[in-house]
Amino acid sequence: MPDHERTTDRSALRADCARCFALCCVALPFAASSGFALDKPAGKPCPHLRTDHGCGIHAGLRERGFTGCTVYDCFGAGQRVSQVTFGGRDWRGAERAEARLMFDVFPVVRRLHELLWYLAEALDLDAARPLHAELRQARERTEELAGEDAEALAALDLDAHWHAVAQLLLRVSESARHGVGRKKGKDGRGANLIGARLKDADLRGVTLRGACLIAADLTGADLRGADLIGADLRDADLTDADLTGALFVTQPQLNAAKGGPGTRLPGSLVRPVHWTTG
Ligand code: SF4
Repeated sequence: MPDHERTTDRSALRADCARCFALCCVALPFAASSGFALDKPAGKPCPHLRTDHGCGIHAGLRERGFTGCTVYDCFGAGQRVSQVTFGGRDWRGAERAEARLMFDVFPVVRRLHELLWYLAEALDLDAARPLHAELRQARERTEELAGEDAEALAALDLDAHWHAVAQLLLRVSESARHGVGRKKGKDGRGANLIGARLKDADLRGVTLRGACLIAADLTGADLRGADLIGADLRDADLTDADLTGALFVTQPQLNAAKGGPGTRLPGSLVRPVHWTTG
């Protein structure tokens, strides 16, 4: 199915900051690094967070050393936790124990929403049709888990469910990559490709699941139908690369990479603003 004909509704899996109480700016811990200019423990509001839940340095995040904030995406977990799990209650006015619960629940729901994103993508693939019943079942179960109450979510051991869905997505990947023109024997699963020179490489249908592609030169690379689930694309150069039909690419992966107007993207993703503004 061509990208523009994809039908699965992903609107609930896109961040809607206007309906969230800035949970990512409070719940998550930061370690001072190239992505964050300061240390911050989980549960402590970022010093740049305004009382209206806006970011005080939004226009200059990258220049101020907070590129991590421009890369991050909650897959819509923020608005679900704020508006559904906690019924519109703001952590600012909540009891300390309830606020802590909100911060504990947020990363759990974020993982579940990430799974929902992958499952939505799999359901849009023609090649995965024989697996649609299993995929729908997995999506229903994941939705069910994400809709649990706060206490249940905080106590949830996600690993078994995550693993089961991952196995299913692996089968989807095998089916979808079959016949994309992949070269036999090319398998970059979990590969260490830090700084690799892959300019103009033919990577059609290759699996790069969990590969470390930090700062790799992928300019002009043909990544059509490649599986990029969990690949680390930080500072990878995707200028003029073709990711049409690439599997399981997420917005945070793109946000962390470099690219330009000539980069061809899967239809469900948007071109990061910093690719065009520098
Ligand atoms: S710098 Fe802005 S976007 Fe980043 S955590 Fe702080 S308030 Fe949130």
